This record gives sequence, C-alpha cells and structure tokens, in this order.
Amino acid sequence: MADADKVPDGADDAGTVPRHALTAQQVLKRVYGYDTFRPGQRQVIDSVLSGRDTMAIMPTGGGKSLCYQIPAAMFAGFFGNRPIGMTLVISPLISLMQDQVEALRSVGVPGAYLNSSLSPERSAAIMRAVRERRITILYCAPERLARREFRDLISSMPIALVAVDEAHCVSHWGHDFRPDYRQIRDFTDACAPHAVRLALTATATVRVRDDIISSLQLRRPAVFQTTFDRPNLWFGVRKLGNREKDQWILDYALAHSDESGIVYCARTKEVDELARMLASHGVSAAPYHAKLDADTRKATQSDFIHDRIRVIVATNAFGMGIDKPDVRYVVHHNLPGSIEAYYQEAGRAGRDGDPGRCMLLWNGSDVNLRSRFIDMPGDAPRGMDPEEADGVRRTKRAMLDFMVGYCGTTHCLRGMILRYFGEEGPESCHNCSNCDGRFEAVDVTDIARAISRCVHDMRQSTGRGTIANVLHGVTARGGAPTRGSARDHSALPTFGALKRQPIGLIRDVMTQMIADGYLAIHTSDAGYPLVVFGPRAAETADAGFAYSIKRDASSSMPRSGVSKPVSEAMEPSDQGLFEQLRELRKQIAREANVPPYVVFSDRTLRDMAQAKPATDEEFLAINGVGEKKLERYGGRFMDMIAAYGAEGKE
Ligand code: ADP
Repeated sequence: MADADKVPDGADDAGTVPRHALTAQQVLKRVYGYDTFRPGQRQVIDSVLSGRDTMAIMPTGGGKSLCYQIPAAMFAGFFGNRPIGMTLVISPLISLMQDQVEALRSVGVPGAYLNSSLSPERSAAIMRAVRERRITILYCAPERLARREFRDLISSMPIALVAVDEAHCVSHWGHDFRPDYRQIRDFTDACAPHAVRLALTATATVRVRDDIISSLQLRRPAVFQTTFDRPNLWFGVRKLGNREKDQWILDYALAHSDESGIVYCARTKEVDELARMLASHGVSAAPYHAKLDADTRKATQSDFIHDRIRVIVATNAFGMGIDKPDVRYVVHHNLPGSIEAYYQEAGRAGRDGDPGRCMLLWNGSDVNLRSRFIDMPGDAPRGMDPEEADGVRRTKRAMLDFMVGYCGTTHCLRGMILRYFGEEGPESCHNCSNCDGRFEAVDVTDIARAISRCVHDMRQSTGRGTIANVLHGVTARGGAPTRGSARDHSALPTFGALKRQPIGLIRDVMTQMIADGYLAIHTSDAGYPLVVFGPRAAETADAGFAYSIKRDASSSMPRSGVSKPVSEAMEPSDQGLFEQLRELRKQIAREANVPPYVVFSDRTLRDMAQAKPATDEEFLAINGVGEKKLERYGGRFMDMIAAYGAEGKE
C-alpha cells in the first residue's frame, strides 16, 4: 500500500512542531528545503495569510501548489501558528491528488483526498480522520460537493481556506469548461462561508479571469499574475505529414530513451496506434486515454511516475492527469485548439526547472479536425442559449486562428506565446526553433501590404472570405461582378490586386497577420467576425516593412538535447557520485513505494554530488532538503557520499 493511502495518525508528525511559530519563508526552507520563493508565490501566500480572497495566475510548473500548501499548514497550526482550520482543495485532476498527498506526506504534512477512486471504507476512514482534525489539507473533486454527507462534514468543521485549482474550468470562455465547477460557489457559501477563497489557474485571458471572480464570488480579490515565461523550456514547431510525424517521434524517443516524455495526440485511435508502434520498436511506451479502464490507467500512470515506463502517449483531455516534475520532453502529435491548451500541456515538461523540450508537429488536416471539433453541436456547454453558444464558438475559432498563427510565424515562438498572455515578450529568445533559424521562409510582403490596403478599402467592415475574394478578383458568389449591386467590389483599387496568388495563400497570410497583431478580428453587432486593423497595422505601410511566413519548417529539436550541458558541467567524479545517489534514490523509492522524485529531485541529487555534505547542517543546506527528509534519508545519503570520498582517496 502506498504511503499516501494510510490515514495519518498525526503523532508521527507532531515532533517537528517548533515552539515558535514559523514564517512562510521558514516553512519553505525547513519543510520543503527551498531557499527562495518562485515569482509570485510569496505575494500569493502573504495575501492568503492576511485573510484576503486571492487569485493566482501562474504558468504550469510555476509552483501553484505551494501557494495553498504553505498557508494550509500554517492555518492548521502545524508550525506553531494559531490554528484556524483545515484547507479544502478542489481539483478536477483525480489522478494528481494521490501524487500531491504523497509529496505532502514526504515532507511531513498530513494530507488526504476524497474521490471516486476510493472504496467506501477508505472514504469513511478519511472522513473520520477529517472529523478528528488529523488532516491539514483535504483534496476533493468537484462532484463531491453535491454529496450530502460531505457537505455535512465540511459544514461542521472550521475551514480556513478553500483553494480552487484549475479555476478556469468554471468558465465557458476557457478551454476546459467543467459544469461541476459551477457548484463551487454555492457550496462554499453554504458550507465554508468564512473561509478565504483562493483561485489558481494558468489561463490569463481577461474574460476567463473576470468569469472566475464572479463565478466563484471572490470578494475584493487580490489578483497576482506572474510571468508566463518558462526560460528552461525550448519550443519548436514542425509541419510534417502524418507518417513522417510518427517516424520523427520514434527517432526522438529512441535517441532519448533514458528520459521521460509525453506525446499528446488529438484522438484515442492515434494514441493506441502510436503507442503500439513505439512499443514494437523497443520504446518503453504506453497509451493513456479515457476509453481505457480505470485500473489500467492507474497502473500506467504509476509506471510512468516510477520511471518504469518512459513515454506516455495520451489524449489531451486525459493527459491533464499526468504529472511528473522531471518530464524532459513533450511532443504534440497534433495541433491543439488554443495556445492556452498548448502551453498547459507543453508546460508539463521541465517543472523541476531543468531543461525541457516542447515540440509541436502539425499539418493541414489537424487544422480541419480542430475546426470540426468546434462545429460539433455537442461541443456547446449544456444549458447555454444559442446566442451564447455562438459566442463561445467564435472565441474558440479565434483561439484556433492564433494557434495556426503560432505554427506559421517566423518570429520568436516564446515571444508569440508571451504576447498572447498579454506580456511584452522578447524579439528573440535564442531558445526556440525560430530563433535557432532552422526554417525556410516565403516572402509575402506584397501580399501583406495588399491585404492591409484592402481592409482599409473595405472600411474594416467585412469578413475574411470577402477580403480574400476581392484581392483575388472574384465576387462573393464567384461569378462575374455585377456593377451597382451591394456586393460589387470591383471598383475598389485593391480588386484583383492578387489575382495571381492562390486564394489559400492569401487566407494563410491573413491568419498570420491576425496572430502577429497586424490585423485583428472584431465581432460586429450582428455577430459576424470582421477583419479590422490590429495594434501593429501601421507598420505595413512603412517603407522598410518586410513580412514572411514559413514554408515547410525544417527545424528540429536540438539533437544533443538541451538537458545535457547541465550534467556535463559536473566534474566527472561528481557525475559518478550522482549516478550512485540516483541508484540509492531508486532503492529507497522502491522500499517506500513512492516515485523517485518524491524522495529527491535530480537537481537536489546533483547539488548533493557537488557539495558532498557530511553533517546534518550541510545536508540541510542542499536545495530541496527539508527537516523531514534529513531525518528520513540524511544518514543513508551521507554514508554513501562519505564512502565514495574514501574510495577516491585510496
Ligand atoms: P503548478 O501547479 O503551478 O503547475 P507545481 O506546484 O506542481 O506547479 O510545482 C512545480 C514544481 O516546482 C514542483 O516539483 C515543486 O516542488 C517545485 N517548486 C515549487 N515551488 C518551488 C520553489 N520555491 N523552489 C523550488 N522548487 C519549487
């Protein structure tokens, strides 16, 4: 039985409670072993501790969990603070709960979770532990909020904090709406009215943000948004045919067989086929999607986090439940529906701060598939009126446009992502396939100029199709222009200006210009998407204006893997010790039945191999070592380090 499945009795952990209350900074160091907060963590934690409703917007891997875990421990009186109550964490990611609880236990904080994967007996035992105040943090899925016994339990308890993870799921305007999230507000009002409310998300659009505040009824919330930049991630885009995509992934996985990776596919069928193909060529790979039974999914996930399987091939819907800090690469086998979805999925690489690589493979049939997803009638959320559903569909189409623009841009990919999230974004990051310069571009300056002039001619009041038609010299119905009719644009100066260019190219350039900010889409009063000028429109009239889009990108992931230099920087002797420490970690993880990274991260082991701590104090100074871990593992690791040193001297 995994450690996390046991209900803690609390006594084991009481020993670490100090006489004086710890500050958040001290908890960070003494419990988690980290020296500094990541950007935004400190502000969010201070805000929550001051009792204010708070919204935290941070990228995937930004460290959101600590933003509620540290206040939770402090609110529970766990570190000598005045006890206020328990923390409830609402999360849609059932499969993550166990990981989180295991990680909490490993640092000595009693957490537990309630979700559909537990037997009735287990649930009852956990509810008892909650009632007896032995639990500091309780994770639950939103479905649970409707249950009578759960509501009664929570109502009877002092609840200090309600943290809503993946808070964008409450909004129709996000990329992952979940109807159950709509209950959170009523639940909190009724069962935990005095609790501080904390919403956490990696989605930053203003509309979703406003929706979260009103749907969860955050009261005068403090809103913190950190940069979305993840400098340790390399981004790449490549246009490939379906068969070439598979070959590319196979080659990559074989060349990086000692690394963990995730491959996202759009559909179950592709997941199964690709996983089978990879496995048949000797890649340690397994599929993961909704149609597999719960036990298989659980086993696969456990194999992945324990490094028994190196590559997970998953659908995007269920890939969300796959979490592991040392995933070194994420490949998208298909185009995602939005930058948000893409960044969330790709962001699962390199959460530990070490280098990660994110490659997006795409082609035209992906774009068609995504468009079809948007148009499917079942895609509109239940109970939405047709007008609102239309609006949602338009938003999704705009998101997809931007995603296609990301694939075709010749500008810095990181810059483009950051601008999407409302940040300035660099002109060049030197860590993406465009900045590496490995692509072929087609000069489309004249086309872009003509499009811009045409938008002006049309007074920014028509859609894309009309603009492409006018430039190409056809009327709306494709017949000869009839003078004097409402649709007659043949007298315009730009009519037929691009009659030699394929209409598809004109459209592609327009899509690209929208994504790059030269044009924008504005919804008319009647609900039609109109092409208007974007913030950079004026530049197209500059004498020096030059514009290009990608032909077929010939970029590829850096061959050696960006992660290599980090370990190469180690002395060879340290490298030897590092390998031994990894073995020891593996052994300890097996004994305790926890994933290796729960014991220590690679980074912590690397620090250890270099610093060679010999005393408790030195061991505690290693990044990622807290008191509980010193107590549990310090002896064994220091013994190994000492033995290694002695060997070297002989
Ligand atoms: P998110 O939920 O925002 O995607 P997580 O909370 O899972 O991110 O954190 C990602 C990783 O970063 C975890 O492995 C976590 O232990 C680590 N981490 C979080 N905060 C810090 C910190 N201040 N210093 C070092 N590592 C941290």
